[in-house]
Amino acid sequence: MKKTIVLALGGNALGDGLAEQMVAVKITARAIVDLVEQGHKVVLTHGNGPQVGMINRAFEAAAKTEAHTPMLPMSVCVALSQGYIGYDLQNALREELHLRGLATPVATIITQVEVDKNDPAFLSPTKPIGSFFTHEEARVMMANGHQMMEDAGRGWRRVVASPKPVDIIEKETVKAMLTAGQLVITVGGGGIPVIREGNHLRGANAVIDKDWASAKLAEMINADMLIILTAVEKVAINYGKPGEQWLDNLSVSDAERFIQQGHFAKGSMLPKVEAAVEFAASRPGRKTLITVLEKAKEGIEGKTGTVISQ
Ligand code: ADP
Ligand code: MG
Repeated sequence: MKKTIVLALGGNALGDGLAEQMVAVKITARAIVDLVEQGHKVVLTHGNGPQVGMINRAFEAAAKTEAHTPMLPMSVCVALSQGYIGYDLQNALREELHLRGLATPVATIITQVEVDKNDPAFLSPTKPIGSFFTHEEARVMMANGHQMMEDAGRGWRRVVASPKPVDIIEKETVKAMLTAGQLVITVGGGGIPVIREGNHLRGANAVIDKDWASAKLAEMINADMLIILTAVEKVAINYGKPGEQWLDNLSVSDAERFIQQGHFAKGSMLPKVEAAVEFAASRPGRKTLITVLEKAKEGIEGKTGTVISQ
């Protein structure tokens, strides 16, 4: 059966660094075009951890020595990372589509994601970003309005909040491209976080989890399936411990219980299972699959991966 699929790419689909990413996207493109070839409608999302870190560090380093180089707001760093990653992905996808005689147009949408200015995450920013500073430098930055935190004895770093996505501003554009049979890359790095102020959308000093943003997108475009591609073929309980058990199927209620029992690591598997539950619970029939890139096709056929459903 042909499905509308939101496909969220994890860090290993892109690799680390410019050269690695150029190679990784070629492999990634093959797996994605396999699904397009089968007639599925695919919307692509992706993470940006290493890339947004690189952009942030580069501007920070330049700002230290060149008075004219600005410190970039996090929202602008995310926007730059969307453009850079989107470019590599759309380039590799276009080539792979052409190789297989498919004329599907592919493009990246620079995507803004609304967050709530009252999200409790803003009160306790926890995500360290970019390079390390001395206490003296940190004091100056804090005076300039940056939030800074001492990071495990290694020095001071900027910290940003990780609020929940509320709305995807460019969702109608995503839907229009999907309806037109085009391949869309959107909510890169979780989307550019923005706060609504009347007609104005103000960039927020935050990073949104890409798994959460992908679940929100999948709901909003009425996808049949959310597929989260990562470094493990299946989700486990007692991961890396005695009694480790790899899961084929996971109900929403069991997943919620396992979350409570602390089976999923914060910052890695937890946001994926939370996003999986959010989408699967939003309407009967909606399923989330968590697996590795190379097994996406088999996963859709029900042969592997972990499927979360009601
Ligand atoms: P991505 O870049 O795809 O977001 P992450 O490293 O953030 O990847 O998350 C995937 C990782 O989560 C896996 O490589 C695995 O080491 C880890 N992990 C933590 N808890 C679990 C679990 N319960 N089951 C499977 N993997 C888990
Ligand atoms: Mg992750």
